[in-house]
Amino acid sequence: MNGKLSNGFLDASQITWSEVRKHDYDVVVLPWGSIEPHNYHLPYLTDCYLSHQIALDSANAAFEKAAVNCMVLPPIYLGSQNPGQWNLPFCIHARYETQKAILLDIVDALYLQNFRKLVIINGHGGNSFKALIRDMARIYPDFVIVLVDWYDIVPKDDFFEEIPDEHAGEQETSVMLHYFPHLVKMVEAGKGNAKPMKIESLNKKTGWMPRNWSEITEDTGIGNPQKSTAEKGQKYAEEVVSRIADLLIELKDFHPR
Ligand SMILES: [Zn+2]
Repeated sequence: MNGKLSNGFLDASQITWSEVRKHDYDVVVLPWGSIEPHNYHLPYLTDCYLSHQIALDSANAAFEKAAVNCMVLPPIYLGSQNPGQWNLPFCIHARYETQKAILLDIVDALYLQNFRKLVIINGHGGNSFKALIRDMARIYPDFVIVLVDWYDIVPKDDFFEEIPDEHAGEQETSVMLHYFPHLVKMVEAGKGNAKPMKIESLNKKTGWMPRNWSEITEDTGIGNPQKSTAEKGQKYAEEVVSRIADLLIELKDFHPR
């Protein structure tokens, strides 16, 4: 999804078999996003672009720091969506069973090929993989799956001004401006105002149910993107990448029982 990479052998979207054969791989990395509107200014595939790029940078950093060889698979674009969002054109909601089938097939293939470590880099807040990963551990007890929600591992408050920021706000927009400025249409950006839900206890998080997206936001965004800059995005992405690279390095020497 991009052209510039110093260690091309870790990018499965560009790799050739002749290159794969030259390397032993320690960890497999799977970016997982969604296809959905992101306010008026970011592309539908934002969650895939970002999780893929962060996965590539992290794999690259793990190689540079500690000679850990990771293979980054192409991103999965089938994400779990909310009502009010899933009926917008070309937003595709993937059912739990679909996501489970995808993950099962990927793990099954990797297991057959003698890989035992997979890191999912999730870029979409609606995806929840924990139950799936527990199920996989029942089927493949010696196959390790680690889940990383990249947007959630570094607190936003130290980097961004407009909080709360949940969907297509200052965080995602800044990181997009850093990596893919040509895909961001800042002049089109809405304010990402979110209305509270009608049941007050849900706002207090006493209970949870899927939010009807079209009832809480007009432009599909939650979080104001207006103060986004590429510089903020770069600083934030560098911190995220450094933490994920450390995880990949530690995983190399982790041996599941
Ligand atoms: Zn997103």
